[in-house]
Amino acid sequence: MGPACQDKAVLKAMILQGVDVCRLNLSHGAHTEHLACIKLIEEIRKETGLPIGILADLQGPKLRIGNIENGAIEIKKDDILTFTTKEQIGNAEKVYMTYQAFPKDVKVGEKVLVDDGKLVLEVIATDKVCEVQTKVLHGGLLKSKKGVNLPNTKISLNCLTEKDLIDLTFALENKVDWVGLSFVRSARDIIELKHIISESRSTARVVAKIEKPEAIEDIDFIIRETDAVMVARGDLGVEIPMEKVPRLQKIIVEKCRQNAKPVIIATQMMESMIENISPTRAEVNDVANAVLDGADAVMLSGETSVGAHPIKVIESMAKIIQEVESDPKIYHHETAPVYVTDERFMSDSICFSAVRIAQRTEAKCMSTMTFSGYSALKLSSQRPKALVFAFTSNAELLTKLSLAWGVYGFFYDKMVSTDHTLEDVQYLLKKNGFVKQGDFIVNTASMPIATKGKTNMIKLTQVS
Ligand code: PEP
Repeated sequence: MGPACQDKAVLKAMILQGVDVCRLNLSHGAHTEHLACIKLIEEIRKETGLPIGILADLQGPKLRIGNIENGAIEIKKDDILTFTTKEQIGNAEKVYMTYQAFPKDVKVGEKVLVDDGKLVLEVIATDKVCEVQTKVLHGGLLKSKKGVNLPNTKISLNCLTEKDLIDLTFALENKVDWVGLSFVRSARDIIELKHIISESRSTARVVAKIEKPEAIEDIDFIIRETDAVMVARGDLGVEIPMEKVPRLQKIIVEKCRQNAKPVIIATQMMESMIENISPTRAEVNDVANAVLDGADAVMLSGETSVGAHPIKVIESMAKIIQEVESDPKIYHHETAPVYVTDERFMSDSICFSAVRIAQRTEAKCMSTMTFSGYSALKLSSQRPKALVFAFTSNAELLTKLSLAWGVYGFFYDKMVSTDHTLEDVQYLLKKNGFVKQGDFIVNTASMPIATKGKTNMIKLTQVS
């Protein structure tokens, strides 16, 4: 979200073209602007009946330089540049760095990357107090407030900064569905954020942004603790050699799918459409490959926040997704339950078999009765060709499930009996045009219904 899509007619048209989740990037803009955006989304939800999700993305410990004389200076190879933690207007000799522990944490020989890696410097000395001397390896224009990446440095900053805590309170007060955590380094960061969210009595879920080498090392534990993942290719491609990103994208997507955690592919997907009316062929391939890899969501940033064609870019992206989804390769990726001792073994077994039955019968729809959303995510993660319908009495879940592949939510709070509920499911799916007489629906549920237990039954319904 951003200035290019803050007009209601524009945002509504984007949503009707296929937007499922709106990201508020809390690195930019004031709370008043983000609040106006949330209100707009809420209005459009009401008008269209579409459960548009909201993701509030926290800035995290993003490092920056300060302001520079006249906005920018030229630095050249072999120049010596000092970073100081004392605030000042930067010049060709010295620039301010926001990260106070920089001189203590950094070591001689480590790289300092500025402006998404456009400028490369190497540390030649540190006084361990307030100044770090560097030599320019690759020069260019050093502009005010640009981001800094330290790919080799063990950064001692907390994953949640003071700004993040203020932004988090704002986001939770305004009932966002998802909170994005930037520069995650370990599963501990996720646990800490989740603790704050639950202390605030919020049901918001967490997206772990993978953009640091340390996160790659701890990826299995991060996926276990988080609710969803974002492959944040912008910073990731600066923090690690960018040629490693495509393979990592595939590995992370597959791990997320196996763990039934929605995964977003982000950054520069349709970058040229910030200005142009159509994407490059390479961008079309990138979006298509993300879908083929098995991503739940593909994300746009500058293309819709400041771009010239925010509606057209959604239309183009949706066309690519729809075309790729005609490829049988993306369907039927099974995840068999492994440990009988696992507390989810029973529902995982039901979901596994339900997807097989759906495949065998060429069912049009699958249904699940869910409060937490777990079984809906589990079904979706196996990419059935049948649409997945989550029936839930948990109204807040509907907008959260928008991030997951192929899941549609229905509010449903009757508790009469399992038979009654399955009749209702058939009636509602038929009434809304998802099935017709003779089609198969694979129902999953928990019996007895009133105990709201874990999914423990499958029924194959032929629509009457
Ligand atoms: C990224 O680095 O790819 C990314 C998504 O970051 P940001 O939140 O800064 O857009």
